[in-house]
Amino acid sequence: MKPKVAFFDFTSCEGCQLEVLNFGEELVELLAQIDIVNFREVRSRRADNYEIAFIDGAITTESDMERIKKVREQAKVLVAMGACACLGGVNCLKNFLPMEENLRIVYGDCARYYNTIPARPVSSVVPVDCYLPGCPMNRYEFLKLAKALLLGKKPELLNYPVCVECKLAGNICAFDKAETCLGPVTRAGCNAICVTSGRHCWGCRGLVDEPNINSEKEILQKHGLTIQDILEKYRHFNGYLIEAGGGPTQHHSLSGEGQLERRPSPPLPLSGEGREVSK
Ligand code: SF4
Ligand code: SF4
Ligand code: SF4
Repeated sequence: MKPKVAFFDFTSCEGCQLEVLNFGEELVELLAQIDIVNFREVRSRRADNYEIAFIDGAITTESDMERIKKVREQAKVLVAMGACACLGGVNCLKNFLPMEENLRIVYGDCARYYNTIPARPVSSVVPVDCYLPGCPMNRYEFLKLAKALLLGKKPELLNYPVCVECKLAGNICAFDKAETCLGPVTRAGCNAICVTSGRHCWGCRGLVDEPNINSEKEILQKHGLTIQDILEKYRHFNGYLIEAGGGPTQHHSLSGEGQLERRPSPPLPLSGEGREVSK
């Protein structure tokens, strides 16, 4: 029987779900192997008998907290998809202002009708089995992960910095152009697309395991950035990390033991073991 898959959106632009829809032919091939039972952007019919849950978005309300816990109870495998779900992402920028101020700025006179809590990644609320980092997540990593899950395996994320891919792409380093870049501490897997497109890396894929943060800080400082500037740079996608650890020296691992990843991940159960899918 084909595994039942569900997609859920929390607080996000839903761009990662759009990436899935952008697959074209590859998605058609994948659909022959899985049964999508819940995907709001695609169909209105929904069912709750899924085994694999893909989560798009950060947790930013009390109701999000309750909802993600229910999804976790049902799913045998829970995948955080994109920077919002993996890291909290851009949503965590609001954590650096008082929540009342955020509500006032966004909703004005209607602020009293809304509630909000500090934004956080999915793994800070429930255990996460697999991560698809990036803003948006990389569709080829999605396919690789989907294939691995179908085989009951846990896919590995690349564990070297964006600089490796950047060098392979033949780019001139941002530092050699008197610019700055978070590539040396950011997990590869995007083919350094931002640098190749003429910009620099903002760190949307999160930190590589065991990043040499102190060396990166030294380089950035040498290029004229203050500690405050550096924190601002990391804050763009890694605000939760800074907030929780007091700075970019705290390590949030997406593939190994991370200080923020306090909850142990269960083994992937699609190969036969693990929790039963509740009916
Ligand atoms: S990670 Fe980026 S593309 Fe994906 S939902 Fe968040 S903001 Fe949108
Ligand atoms: S531009 Fe950025 S990613 Fe590329 S080599 Fe330089 S520091 Fe690394
Ligand atoms: S270069 Fe950096 S910011 Fe751009 S996609 Fe890759 S990890 Fe994200």
